[in-house]
Amino acid sequence: MEFNDAPFVPGEDPEDIGSGRVTHLYVGSSAYTGNPMCVRGWNRENGASYSILKGIVNRSICRTCLRRAEKGLPAVVSRFRKTRIFR
Ligand SMILES: [Zn+2]
Repeated sequence: MEFNDAPFVPGEDPEDIGSGRVTHLYVGSSAYTGNPMCVRGWNRENGASYSILKGIVNRSICRTCLRRAEKGLPAVVSRFRKTRIFR
């Protein structure tokens, strides 16, 4: 799917079960998938990585991801990278 002529791939968290589940958007394609459009897309290792089933659209798309993609805003970096101090 595309927003503002930029490609995105929806990704479903296979371990996220129950009600209220959403599919987050990731920049790029299933062949090369980049960062998610909201911090909840970083769903592993306390926000350092993610694990998704690419191209799954059974769930509704995350509203935050959708709004950011429609506005042409950039993907978000992981919480891990933002807060970790390397020595
Ligand atoms: Zn999202």
